[in-house]
Amino acid sequence: MELPYAEPYKIKMVESINRSTREQRLKWIKEANYNLFNLSSDKVFIDLLTDSGTGSMSDKQWGEIMVGDESYAGSSSFLKLKKTVKKITGFTYFLPTHQGRAAENVLFSTLVKEGDVVPGNSHFDTTKGHIEFRKATAIDCTIDEAFDTSIIHDFKGNVDIQKLKKVFETYPLEKIPFVILTITCNSSGGQPVSIENVREVSKICKKYKTPLIFDSARFAENAYFIKKREKGYENKTIKEIVKEVFSYGDGMTMSAKKDGLVNMGGFIALNSEKIFKQATVYTIMFEGFITYGGMNGRDMGALAQGLDEATEFDYLESRVEQVAYLGKKLVEYGVPVQQPIGGHAVFLDANKFVPTIPREEYRAQALAIEIYVVGGIRGVEIGTVLADRDPVTRENRYPDLELVRLAIPRRTYTHNHMEYIAAVLEKIYDTRKEAKSGFEIIDEAPIMRHFTAKFRKI
Ligand SMILES: *Cc1c(COP(=O)(O)O)cnc(C)c1O
Repeated sequence: MELPYAEPYKIKMVESINRSTREQRLKWIKEANYNLFNLSSDKVFIDLLTDSGTGSMSDKQWGEIMVGDESYAGSSSFLKLKKTVKKITGFTYFLPTHQGRAAENVLFSTLVKEGDVVPGNSHFDTTKGHIEFRKATAIDCTIDEAFDTSIIHDFKGNVDIQKLKKVFETYPLEKIPFVILTITCNSSGGQPVSIENVREVSKICKKYKTPLIFDSARFAENAYFIKKREKGYENKTIKEIVKEVFSYGDGMTMSAKKDGLVNMGGFIALNSEKIFKQATVYTIMFEGFITYGGMNGRDMGALAQGLDEATEFDYLESRVEQVAYLGKKLVEYGVPVQQPIGGHAVFLDANKFVPTIPREEYRAQALAIEIYVVGGIRGVEIGTVLADRDPVTRENRYPDLELVRLAIPRRTYTHNHMEYIAAVLEKIYDTRKEAKSGFEIIDEAPIMRHFTAKFRKI
């Protein structure tokens, strides 16, 4: 018999989290105008709002915090991080930034012009934002299978090669500054991209002499899926797979708040000295000198250590399998979730969970609120509230999917917490038919309303 996996770490320091009663939570969420972003964290028992910057650092990372070198230029912490980035990704040129979107800001200021098109696989919100802000267009070339939650496909983050070819045949080459490949694909639910797909995308990029850039926030989780699911990679180490994936591209942007295992940070890494030199100007303007780019020396040291730990198999197995464990438990109870389970989160399908609540009453938001009231668990709505209104008609834009995302922070919660979350959802699922009404919005910002909207219970 094969032995089960177990966390490859033990706990040295604990942080208390607060339990509360249903009555308290009913009062608090009402005071927060039924918006989970409005709750202070002490009113949350298990916080699954995001996996970004919410994980735990290791003892070795905390050790790096103590030996950080805060020199303005050329600090040893910077050199340590640059060396680690080269070792893990293979890219020679390196620019730190304060987080992932800052890396996008610097690199896209260098490469994207008005009227450009940037093909990729379901660009992340900030990536798309930084493209559209420059009056350019993001073209989504993800495979069609990604948009059906019930289709099982090993690599739902893959690019449809025909769609990508079509972009190159439709637009003049000088309008396509680069292709961006998001690994794993956050917007399609943390779904991985296969190495075969990376190779095919790379071949097209080379044919058209267009750089391939990786949006790499969860590159290590992506490598884990390649090892587990792709033929020929089962005996390779995660570090070998990571190195091979990046070898097919020309550069990367990174949100270190995910697979960097730190709470804040990011970077750009590149092969091209020319692009690097152009980008340094924007780093200095937006982020700081090129040897710290918005990061403390100590945080660069912790990130170097974090990158090393995040690309170890045992860590990744416990990380990805913890998410999968919660997902499988929910599937056993019959709770409708997006399949297959992604690397960093479980997505509940509110259209199937609470069809009894009218769509106009924000059923995914209603489900997210119920999960908080019943269990003190904070997830996030990824549905009509997030999709916001049509810019012209100002009417709601109803997306195909109404989801509640439960994102699992790295190395933070235990197996028992997963059991607790599953039990809360089972309880809600058992009484789902009693849910008849949702919410109305009583106040909302002109754009990005989900962060601050106020709701009233119907
Ligand atoms: C989080 C994320 C970003 C943006 O990074 P921040 O650190 O939040 O600024 C970009 N792309 C992907 C795929 C992400 O998940």
